[in-house]
Amino acid sequence: MNESVAMATSAIPETMKAARMHKIGGELIIEDLPVPKPGSLDVLVRVRSCGIVPNLGNILSNWPTWFPHMPQPPLPAIFGLDPAGEVAAVGELVHGIKPGDRVYLNPGRSCGSCRHCRRGDGLSCQHYAFQGYFGFSKHAMQTFKDYDTGGLGEYMVAPASAVVSLPDNMPFDHAARLGYMGTGYSALKKAGVGPTDTLLVNGISGTLGISCAVFGLALGAKKILGTGRDKKLLAEIKALAPDRIEVFSINDGPLDTWARSHTQNGEGVDVFIDCNGPGTSHEPFLQGIKAMRRGATAVDIGAVMGEVALDVHYLMDNNMRLIGSAWFNTHEGQEMADMVGSGIVDFSILETHATPLSGVNEAISGIAARHGGFSNFVIHP
Ligand SMILES: [Zn+2]
Repeated sequence: MNESVAMATSAIPETMKAARMHKIGGELIIEDLPVPKPGSLDVLVRVRSCGIVPNLGNILSNWPTWFPHMPQPPLPAIFGLDPAGEVAAVGELVHGIKPGDRVYLNPGRSCGSCRHCRRGDGLSCQHYAFQGYFGFSKHAMQTFKDYDTGGLGEYMVAPASAVVSLPDNMPFDHAARLGYMGTGYSALKKAGVGPTDTLLVNGISGTLGISCAVFGLALGAKKILGTGRDKKLLAEIKALAPDRIEVFSINDGPLDTWARSHTQNGEGVDVFIDCNGPGTSHEPFLQGIKAMRRGATAVDIGAVMGEVALDVHYLMDNNMRLIGSAWFNTHEGQEMADMVGSGIVDFSILETHATPLSGVNEAISGIAARHGGFSNFVIHP
């Protein structure tokens, strides 16, 4: 394989440092492992920054209990969801990407050959899985076999089709946030947000909510109505665009009355995006539905858990849509990177906390103080 792979000018070592989990609940162990070899349609990337959530250790330990239908990679495994770095080598059939290119790798893997993949809809593939994290069905196990490296190592391999090219003004640490940014961005795209829309975002000061604020502004939303609890954080969100963002603490009453008061004749919002996470009460979600105008669209990306008591008759009568949206596609990733490149959006609002690979266990243990969605936790392998 090596002679058919275009190599970077700097020599690629035989081995690399990577953090692997050997047993559920155990610490990640830093090991010397062989540098993976790219297949003919793959890229090998020298990872410089990998985004993490600060309680990743807790998630990895409890995942099989919480979500037994969504498998993790077989152990020992290198986890790490949101990697960015430089291309070190490309497979013999890769012609649009070259060693030295600065990239983000969309971890969303699909099979590439089923009817959904062949029409460019990899998110609908039965094999869909997050490389270095988890899958959505038993079919993900094949995906993990095909791509068995994650971002918590010096090198990883991914298909060339997963590459998002980074503009020069986008640091790797900001690119390592594209996953969570993309989840919000894709929701806005699915709802068709544009200049005539008033947008309601529940949980706007969190990791997903900030994405909806940043990209809602970039897509031209007329007004963004954000809810949360922490008034200090909400004020910081409003400061991003004081003329276009209004905020409300759900401790102060029902959010639907407030949201409607900010729409023309009180008719309701055009788009409602719920970013509240698992464990949140259903009430803010249901009030968000009540805040919608006739014909409006709701998108859930926060994953409120359990059976929400939703009156679907009301949705039908009012010609409303409710969409579940998971992650984003690589093209949407490129759109976000290009918007950073042209200055339409600015990720400098992120406060990055970087940890070397040697400190990975402390970084994922969840002790870090968090400044809402402004905090950006990354590992530098
Ligand atoms: Zn497929």
